[in-house]
Amino acid sequence: MTRIQLNFKEDEEHPSFSEQEKSAIEAAAKDLQRVVNSEAFRLGVVRYSFKPKVGRRKYYFRMNKGKSRQEIYKMLITGQDNYETKRDYTLNFLVKPFERKFDAQGGTAGFTRPDTQFIFLNKAYLTYYIHNYPSAVYLPSFAGTLLHEYCHNLGFSHRGNRSSAYNQKTVPYAVGNLVVKLLREIQEEEFEFTEEVVANLEEKFSLERFCA
Ligand SMILES: [Zn+2]
Repeated sequence: MTRIQLNFKEDEEHPSFSEQEKSAIEAAAKDLQRVVNSEAFRLGVVRYSFKPKVGRRKYYFRMNKGKSRQEIYKMLITGQDNYETKRDYTLNFLVKPFERKFDAQGGTAGFTRPDTQFIFLNKAYLTYYIHNYPSAVYLPSFAGTLLHEYCHNLGFSHRGNRSSAYNQKTVPYAVGNLVVKLLREIQEEEFEFTEEVVANLEEKFSLERFCA
């Protein structure tokens, strides 16, 4: 079984997470752990493919560093990443807060950089979702954001910071979206994810990776 080890990394120079934000992140990490260990997640990764508009060839993950889908799945569950050498089936998430405008028009949910293990989460993104949506909506999004950022710690990247059609097929986006989809399916009894609601949610935020 794969475990998710969550550590809040707060310091005096940055804003800290509120208790409400912390419990939401903890709940999202718990949901994420449940999904990562599911057969649906394994199949979602090892069977991932898409067909471009032109041509017949099927493609797997974009910017996959030459890894097969099976290899990518293994990387996602073993806990070995650019910062952790042990294959202890523990994913270490060091979560740090930052604060930047996030409102009904959207904004940045989180980011990381190639030189740090930290996963930065935008307090304004957390607050916006916690205040405007039920947990059935925001927990899948938070969980997807966490795993998206962790994919960068595995060395996967995307082109620039936009959630473009190209980027949606990269490992961080595709795997993050898979988590959101699977968790929404679990939450569907509580909240109806109509197409309109889903479209509205998906336009709202972007995930960034700043290159140092
Ligand atoms: Zn990213």
